[in-house]
Amino acid sequence: MIAPFCDARGIPYARQVLLAEHTTFRIGGPADFAVMPRNPEEMGQVLSFLNRNNMRYFILGKGSDILAHDKGYRGVLVLTEGMKALSAEGDRIYAEAGCSMASVSNLALREGLQGLEFLHGIPGSIGGGIFMNAGAYGSEIGTFVESVTWADRNGVLHTTPGSELSFSYRHSFFTESGGVVCSVVLRCSHGNPVEIKEKMQDLDGRRREKQPLEYPSAGSAFKRPEGYFAGKLIEDSGLKGFSVGDAWVSEKHAGFIVNKGNATSEDVHRLIDHVTSVVYQKFGVTLEPEVRFLDE
Ligand SMILES: Cc1cc2nc3c(=O)[nH]c(=O)nc-3n(C[C@H](O)[C@H](O)[C@H](O)COP(=O)(O)OP(=O)(O)OC[C@H]3O[C@@H](n4cnc5c(N)ncnc54)[C@H](O)[C@@H]3O)c2cc1C
Repeated sequence: MIAPFCDARGIPYARQVLLAEHTTFRIGGPADFAVMPRNPEEMGQVLSFLNRNNMRYFILGKGSDILAHDKGYRGVLVLTEGMKALSAEGDRIYAEAGCSMASVSNLALREGLQGLEFLHGIPGSIGGGIFMNAGAYGSEIGTFVESVTWADRNGVLHTTPGSELSFSYRHSFFTESGGVVCSVVLRCSHGNPVEIKEKMQDLDGRRREKQPLEYPSAGSAFKRPEGYFAGKLIEDSGLKGFSVGDAWVSEKHAGFIVNKGNATSEDVHRLIDHVTSVVYQKFGVTLEPEVRFLDE
């Protein structure tokens, strides 16, 4: 967590915040400022202030899908980590944007609610999960969304039903609109806690076995191209273990690019370009990055 200063409204902020400390890739220089609203109303105030003053900003959850620039970010990071109210009532879960997906999944387990076991191993925030429509093992978060409360550029809060949020593969209304997820209501069904726990453990075990969790990364570097698996195309191109500087195509799972020490964003970009071009030459398939680039 950043050392908090306080602006006139009491909303914590800090100067010179190192992106390498806020991204799972452990890459990225300093951002000029970071601000940390603590609830949806404060998020609205922050967005209204930033837009009125034409300030450049970027919403950052747990930074688990981000490749930040080595020189950092000239603008304001809006961190959601302070927004972490989480509760359950009946078959519904209320979570503010900064809650980790693991904490939402753990609450579902405690409440005997099934369906969210797949969230347990995804290292992002629920806000980032809604933005990306995070998914794994045949499930996607969008399926469980009853409604999302979000802020527009003017800081005005809206509540929209999940059915109107255009969820599809790694896409939602938020990937297009600039709307900021503030909180979400998820609807689950009641289940057997023993079975829910077993499923969580099974999925976590499959992750540990297949994914290079021992190294910093941003998860799958590429989206799944229609009809293919990115990891298999990369492996079949002979690129498993290929590296640029400290950025490596994982030997354990070729769909992951890992940071084996001091990889720079430049290393990762060059590796992504190389992989994309070799896979295209061999198979005629264009890989699209899943990781999102935060430029200086
Ligand atoms: C080891 C590992 C395994 C992974 N496995 C999976 C997996 O199985 N399935 C999967 O889908 N993903 C996976 N990921 C990727 C990542 O965890 C997800 O994409 C996650 O949804 C990103 O959440 P975040 O909070 O980290 O978002 P960030 O990385 O902080 O941000 C990602 C994007 O979301 C935007 N954003 C974040 N919060 C908000 C908000 N509140 N409102 C609006 N926009 C917002 C950001 O501006 C950015 O554009 C994995 C990553 C790692 C490192």
